[in-house]
Amino acid sequence: MKRKVIVTAINDLLQTPEGLELLADFPRTLVIAHLRKITEESRSKQLLEGANPKTNQEILNEARVKLVNDHQPTLKKVINGTGTILHTNLGRSNLAPCIKEDLFHVAFGFSNVEYVLETGERGSRYAHLEKLLQKLTGAEAALVVNNNAAAVLLTLSALAKGKEVVVSRGELVEIGGSFRIPEIMELSGCHLKEIGTTNKTHKKDYLQATEEEFEGLILKVHTSNYSIKGFTAEVDLKDLKEIASTRNIPLVYDMGSGVLTSLANYGVETGYTVKEVLSTGVDIVTFSGDKLLGGPQAGIIVGKKEYIEKMKEHQLTRALRVDKMTIAALEGTLRLYLDEIKAISSIPTLNMLTLSKEELHRKAICLMKSLFRLEGLQVKLIEGISQVGGGSMPDVELSSWLLALEPENLSTTSFVEALRKASIPIILRIKKEQCLLDIRTVNETDFPIVINMIRETLDSHR
Ligand SMILES: *Cc1c(COP(=O)(O)O)cnc(C)c1O
Repeated sequence: MKRKVIVTAINDLLQTPEGLELLADFPRTLVIAHLRKITEESRSKQLLEGANPKTNQEILNEARVKLVNDHQPTLKKVINGTGTILHTNLGRSNLAPCIKEDLFHVAFGFSNVEYVLETGERGSRYAHLEKLLQKLTGAEAALVVNNNAAAVLLTLSALAKGKEVVVSRGELVEIGGSFRIPEIMELSGCHLKEIGTTNKTHKKDYLQATEEEFEGLILKVHTSNYSIKGFTAEVDLKDLKEIASTRNIPLVYDMGSGVLTSLANYGVETGYTVKEVLSTGVDIVTFSGDKLLGGPQAGIIVGKKEYIEKMKEHQLTRALRVDKMTIAALEGTLRLYLDEIKAISSIPTLNMLTLSKEELHRKAICLMKSLFRLEGLQVKLIEGISQVGGGSMPDVELSSWLLALEPENLSTTSFVEALRKASIPIILRIKKEQCLLDIRTVNETDFPIVINMIRETLDSHR
């Protein structure tokens, strides 16, 4: 074998066609760092162990492999095979593809985010959303911040700082391990006044707590991620509003997941819509943009103008201000709701929620047929349950079709791990030693990716 001349100088490596290609694809400092490291390792191996030094070609190839691995974005596409629609760890809602254009222009160009085109004056970024939210919820006014946690924080800070906030013990929730009502309360400078018991809180508890020159507010919190069953009692919003009115204090409802359209016609019980909630007279309602609404991460505050005005003037609003991309994504999503049928068919969260059992069966069969062709894999079609997730509707179970995947040469856990580490990761769930892919949350357009990733995984374990 003809020994190639070894050119170790990094500059020479960079002048080769492969070197120039590396420079075109990756930042120069990274390319140099990798080439230097590989060259030095090769040299020291040569000196210490008498090994053959690496050829230029080997060094450049190795550098490309390392750069491709190191320089990948860490945030990337994954396939959600868990069946949990609002999976907070996987990004909650997917935006409707039909609003892509709206987002594109705002993200990559200038926009009138805070500019009134009629007058040429400075405008409010919230104006783009307020009219739509008024129309869709019937609210007097609206404000949007970064997420619902921020919405609650702002509401409490602006309306009850230094005052007492009455909350039922059964509603002192913790959501996702980081949003805890008592802590948000403390952060906003309010004093928590717990009333009732874990399972029962009555009207008289609220009345007692708000006696004699009470100045704060009543907060009701939707117990999004759990439900208390059995011997229970809570006071509904209508009764709470009555109490709040007699005491002349605001009633605030942290709704958690904001539903803008009923899905009852599709057999999915989502609870009250924001509009229905507001019609009880509640003064302020807060909810997330990326839960059942199906939009971007955002915290939406709707309700009485006098209170929303106070929030708009609060310094926190500036700190919790939403980005123009959020506004574009939320405006696009809200506009879809002007036609409810269109909203349900085009907003992925709603679409996944309302898929019929027949449609799910068709999708599952379609993917299964392709998977049957793979060697070393058994596939079974089974019935199962999808979760809504995202701390929404803990009691709702959606009946679905699942594929149980049984690789011949791999254990269930190794298979799940290998797919999680695939170049486009596929996230599955394990139940009773079975590796399950719930078809509900897998887009049909992603089927070729699913098939390829499974094929590669099987091939590399032969
Ligand atoms: C989800 C939820 C929150 C937190 O909302 P984020 O948008 O995740 O910040 C707060 N309160 C309730 C009741 C929730 O369900």
